[in-house]
Amino acid sequence: METATTTNNEVTDDVIVIGAGVSGLVTAYRLAKKGLRVRVLEAAPRTGGVMASGRSDGMLWELGPNSGMDTTPLINELLDSLGIRDQRADARKIADRRFIVRGGQLIPLPMSGPAFFSTPLFSTGTKLGLLREPFIARSSPETDESVAAFVRRRLGTEFLDYAIQPFVSGIFAGDPEQLSVQAAFPKLFALEQRYGGMIRGMILGARERKRQREKSKNNAKSFSFNDGMQTLTDALARGITSANSVVETNIRVTSITCNAEGRWEVRGDKETVYRADSLVLSTPANAAATLLASLKTAWADDAVQALRDIPYAPLSIVISAWRREAVTHPLDGFGFLVPRKENAHILGALFSSSMFEHRADEAHAVLTTMIGGMLQPELPKCDDNALQEMVERDLASLIGIRGTPLWTKISRHPRAIPQYTFGHLKRVQRVDAVRSHAPGLFFCANWRGGISVGDCIKNGHLTADEVGAFVTARRTS
Ligand SMILES: Cc1cc2nc3c(=O)[nH]c(=O)nc-3n(C[C@H](O)[C@H](O)[C@H](O)COP(=O)(O)OP(=O)(O)OC[C@H]3O[C@@H](n4cnc5c(N)ncnc54)[C@H](O)[C@@H]3O)c2cc1C
Repeated sequence: METATTTNNEVTDDVIVIGAGVSGLVTAYRLAKKGLRVRVLEAAPRTGGVMASGRSDGMLWELGPNSGMDTTPLINELLDSLGIRDQRADARKIADRRFIVRGGQLIPLPMSGPAFFSTPLFSTGTKLGLLREPFIARSSPETDESVAAFVRRRLGTEFLDYAIQPFVSGIFAGDPEQLSVQAAFPKLFALEQRYGGMIRGMILGARERKRQREKSKNNAKSFSFNDGMQTLTDALARGITSANSVVETNIRVTSITCNAEGRWEVRGDKETVYRADSLVLSTPANAAATLLASLKTAWADDAVQALRDIPYAPLSIVISAWRREAVTHPLDGFGFLVPRKENAHILGALFSSSMFEHRADEAHAVLTTMIGGMLQPELPKCDDNALQEMVERDLASLIGIRGTPLWTKISRHPRAIPQYTFGHLKRVQRVDAVRSHAPGLFFCANWRGGISVGDCIKNGHLTADEVGAFVTARRTS
C-alpha cells in the first residue's frame, strides 16, 4: 500500500478519519492494522471524544461513559490486539442490582421470573398482563412505532412508566414517546417481528445468540479498565501511531472536497491540505452536516438536512465524592433511575465506586448523577451551584446523603446523545444516498448503528472492513 507523501503543507495518506472518539479510533486502528496509512484529525486537544477518565484524591471518575457492555466477542479481540486485556475490569457482582425509584424508595429491578412476581415495583394487574404478552399480535413492519406505544401495547402503561421510561432515560436520556422502537431498540423490534413476542423471542433469541457467540444487553457483563474507560481510547491512539499511521489533535476540519481524480481533500484550521483515497466522517451529526455542506453541491443538500434533523439530548453530569459515612444507603448496586412520574430533578445516579473494584477506598464513595435529557432539557443549563443543589437535595431524599461532598466535578454535554426518533432510519438512508455521488466517503459515529460503546466498537470494525475493501479495489482497478 502507498505510504504517506508529504510536500509543503500537503499530506497524502490512504484514509483520513475525522474525529477521534471511540468510533473513529476503532475504524482507524483496524485500517492501520490492515496495513493502510491512516490519518486521524481531531479538533480537541485530546483523543477519546466523550470518553474521559481521571483520578482525584485516589478516587476514579468518568466524565463520559462509566462502563461498556461486553455484547460482542469483537471487544475482547480488540483488547487482545491492543494488549490491554489484562487492564480490563469487570463489574462487581453487586452491580447486577439496578434500582428504580417508586414512591421515593429505591426498589431493585427484578431480574428473574420469581423476583418479577414478588416485586413491589409493579401492580398485580401489570404482572398478570405479562402472561398475555405472547398472545399480542405483532405490528406491521412498516409502522414506525414509538418505544412508548410498543411497550404500552405489549406490556401496559405501568411497565412503561416504571421500567422502560427510566431505562430509556438511562441509555438515551430520551423520551420514549419520540424514540422509534425500530431505530433505537432494533433487537426489541426484531424479537416481536421474528418470534411474535418479547418473551418467546427472549427464549429463542438466547439460543441463537449462543450460536453466534453474542450476548444480549441484559446478560452481558459491564466492563471498564483499572484506570477507567479512557484506557481504551488512549490505547487505540497509541496503536494507530505504532502501526505507521498518524493521530493529529487540535485540527478542526472545516471543509472537504473531492478532486477531479476522485481523491478526497480535507482542510482544517491550519494551513495543511490532507489528501486520501477514502474519507471517514466520525463526528457528531451536526459536524458531519457542516462538512458535507462544505462540498457545496446540490446532491449533498438532502443529506445535510437529514443530519441536521437528528436531535441530541442535553445532559449535565455531576460527579461527587463523599465520605462513606455521609451516605446512608448501602450503595449495593449499579445505581438507580428515577421515573419521570416521581418528579425528581435528577434522571438517576450511578454508584460509580461500587460498580468496580479500586474506584475509591472503603472510607469514600463516588456518585455520578445525570441531569436533563429530552424530558427536562432546560435543567442542564443551570449554573454549577444550582446543579449541585439539585443533586444534593435529590440524593439526600433518595439515598440519605448528609452534608456536602468532598469535591464535585461537572461535565456539561449540551449535545450528549443522538436521539433515534421517528424517521431516523430514513434519515440515515438519506445520508447514505450521498455515497453514490461520493465514492470513498464513509460515516461511522454514534448517530447511526447504536450509541453504546459496544455498538461504536462493532460499527468501527464493520466500517474499517468496508473502507479497506474500497481502497484495495481502487488500487487494483
Ligand atoms: C455523558 C455520557 C455518558 C455515556 N455513558 C455511556 C455508558 O455508560 N455506556 C455506554 O455504552 N455508552 C455511554 N455513552 C455513549 C457513548 O459513550 C458514546 O455514544 C460514544 O462514546 C460516542 O463515540 P463517537 O466516537 O461516536 O463520538 P464522540 O465521542 O462524540 O467523538 C466525536 C469526535 O469528533 C470530533 N470532532 C467533531 N467535529 C470535528 C471537526 N470538525 N474536526 C475534527 N474533529 C471533530 C470531536 O471533538 C470528538 O472528539 C455515554 C455518552 C455520554 C455523552
